Amino acid sequence: MQDQLYIYNTLSRSKEKFEPIVKGMVGLYVCGPTVYSDVHLGNCRTFISFDLIYRYLVHLGFKVRYVRNITDAGHLEGDRDEGDDKFAKKAKLEQLEPMEIVQKYTVGFHDVMKDFNSLPPSIEPTATGHICEQVEMIKQIIEKGYAYVTDGTVYFDVEKYNKEFSYGQLTNRKLEELLEGTRELSGQDEKHGRLDFALWIKAKPETLMKWPSPWGWGFPGWHIECSAMSSKYLGETFDIHGGGMDLQATHHTNEIAQSQACNHKAPVNYWMHTNMLTVNGVRMSKSAGNGFLPGELFTGDHPLLEKGYSPMSVRFFMMQTHYRSTLDFSNEALQASEKGYARLMNSIKTLDTLKTSSSTTSDIKQLQQKCYEAMNDDFNAPILVANLFEGARIINSVNDGKESITQEDLALLKKIMHDFVFDVLGLKPEMSNTGHDKTLNGVMEVILQIRNEAKAKKDFATSDKLRDELAKNKITIKDTKEGVNWSIEQ
Ligand code: AMP
Ligand code: ZN
Repeated sequence: MQDQLYIYNTLSRSKEKFEPIVKGMVGLYVCGPTVYSDVHLGNCRTFISFDLIYRYLVHLGFKVRYVRNITDAGHLEGDRDEGDDKFAKKAKLEQLEPMEIVQKYTVGFHDVMKDFNSLPPSIEPTATGHICEQVEMIKQIIEKGYAYVTDGTVYFDVEKYNKEFSYGQLTNRKLEELLEGTRELSGQDEKHGRLDFALWIKAKPETLMKWPSPWGWGFPGWHIECSAMSSKYLGETFDIHGGGMDLQATHHTNEIAQSQACNHKAPVNYWMHTNMLTVNGVRMSKSAGNGFLPGELFTGDHPLLEKGYSPMSVRFFMMQTHYRSTLDFSNEALQASEKGYARLMNSIKTLDTLKTSSSTTSDIKQLQQKCYEAMNDDFNAPILVANLFEGARIINSVNDGKESITQEDLALLKKIMHDFVFDVLGLKPEMSNTGHDKTLNGVMEVILQIRNEAKAKKDFATSDKLRDELAKNKITIKDTKEGVNWSIEQ
């Protein structure tokens, strides 16, 4: 199965058969968050998309080393090393140490990833923990002639690099086109060329996070951290590098240039980019002011939200659009996802109560085949979801006595639903869309399971008793087409 995976490679702008450097192993690097503020739902979309990709690679049996960094220094407000340091600015605003900012938002990021049932990466390196590696890499780039020092700041010489390599290859643009989009140098600039970017930035007297280097006290540029850390943990050339589409033109283009200049090798075989989460067609971002925090989404406490949505409904919402398409946020879409998720989960519960026969009416083997085909086609989760809904339809039909299934096929159907819903899509059972009281959710899960089993045995006395007793405790159970819902009377 491992040899049937196709991945869309931004570098070639086409789907390519996935051939790992070492058979059975995958090196995967994803640009992590800049931890100077809370992650919004757009950031989450990118990380959840890569969680799906990681999960599927693991499911296929690959041994994956998944590296996702934490940017905790060196990210200035402009992508091309201009403006204030994001951490210093926030530290001043919140009257905290820059490292308190880093700690606060790193913990917040991890909590949110857990809420969304995203798996942790194998290594989560920080920029501040790899200053030596970055300095070493910059030294080599200078030695090889692709960088120069101006008054304690080191710049990458893009035009010189472009004479031997192709600087704009990731976005398929020539240097001349790229130059057109940049401002003229003023004569006061330290840079030689308009596209040159900083590898190391000289500290100002007020800079708090700074380190000694051969060029004086300073801090690394944002792009060098990913080149230094990816090559340290995955090698000079590795399999897959990912990130949001907005990182292609500058951050990833510069990463390629740095690594290629240093090692004279292309650093990455497959570049993968996720598309943006939008709100009314506008990209969700901190600067546009249209960002929801995951917490606001779970509680519904935001003017654009009609109600709260549980983490798994939101995750399911994201799985219903391919990672390379834009995903527009809307209350209607989330409500539909909430229902769809409940339908899928209920069908999985019903699986345990199905009766088997001597023949099967639907082709279960073919269903499994279609699930793999969808995911092997550049991780096409929406098609996978459509197939899983077909699985849910079969389950409900067998339950209603309209279709039949053999014991062997039922075992296969269970395997398909568990493999793809839990392991690959990363969904998990969740009972209440308030989503917060885990103990109560757990208890309700047990009670509803007993009620389900009682109903399956036609033991209506028990199932009714459970419903009535819960009602006395202000918990209402509703049997709907999508399954059982419960709520607490306020
Ligand atoms: P940052 O913390 O700003 O470095 O962003 C972390 C990740 O989130 C990057 O891979 C971005 O490309 C991605 N990202 C930012 N905004 C969005 C969005 N609206 N939709 C999807 N991904 C996004
Ligand atoms: Zn990066």
